[in-house]
Amino acid sequence: MGDIVDKAEHASNAFFQEALNNKAKEAPGHTGFCLNCNEEVEHPLRWCDTDCRDDWEKYSNKIEVAPGHDED
Ligand SMILES: [Zn+2]
Repeated sequence: MGDIVDKAEHASNAFFQEALNNKAKEAPGHTGFCLNCNEEVEHPLRWCDTDCRDDWEKYSNKIEVAPGHDED
């Protein structure tokens, strides 16, 4: 019996963790500061302007795409 409970708990933790990771990849929530330049922004804004958002998206895409995967 204990096994089943352990497995269920482990599975839901993994699921929860994955959901968290996916959310983090998209963008962190409002922090009070621009995610790109750390300038103070009003709720619920996450960037001070669209340039910062674009820069941040470029930057976060760079992290996800590993270099050295050029294939012809
Ligand atoms: Zn900014």
